[in-house]
Amino acid sequence: MTDKMNSAAMAKPKKWRDVPMAGVAFGATAEAVETGQWRSIRPLWDSEKCISCLICWNQCPDRAVTTDESGKVTGIDEFYCKGCGICAHLCPKDAIEMKPETDFAAARGDR
Ligand code: SF4
Ligand code: SF4
Repeated sequence: MTDKMNSAAMAKPKKWRDVPMAGVAFGATAEAVETGQWRSIRPLWDSEKCISCLICWNQCPDRAVTTDESGKVTGIDEFYCKGCGICAHLCPKDAIEMKPETDFAAARGDR
């Protein structure tokens, strides 16, 4: 492929119809993928403030908010949480605070 063809192929699509078809890799389900590795900010859940309204549980795109058998929120699964911040944004009780992952670097053993 020439440079001219390359730049034409990489041009920004003008409409959504111009976006080329793509696919999803076999087996790449949300259950199998550790989306928590994408996270740059981490939600900290405060059990004292939480009223288990389940807004965060309902809106989390990664099913990362955990509940017990009675439907009460028990925390956030860091394996799946990708740090989008939707839960913190929607929480009516400010029970979730987003913190930079760099705050936890020492605990993870990062240098
Ligand atoms: S949105 Fe806030 S108050 Fe409601 S369940 Fe989630 S953390 Fe608790
Ligand atoms: S930050 Fe996003 S992915 Fe993580 S628990 Fe909240 S809504 Fe779910």
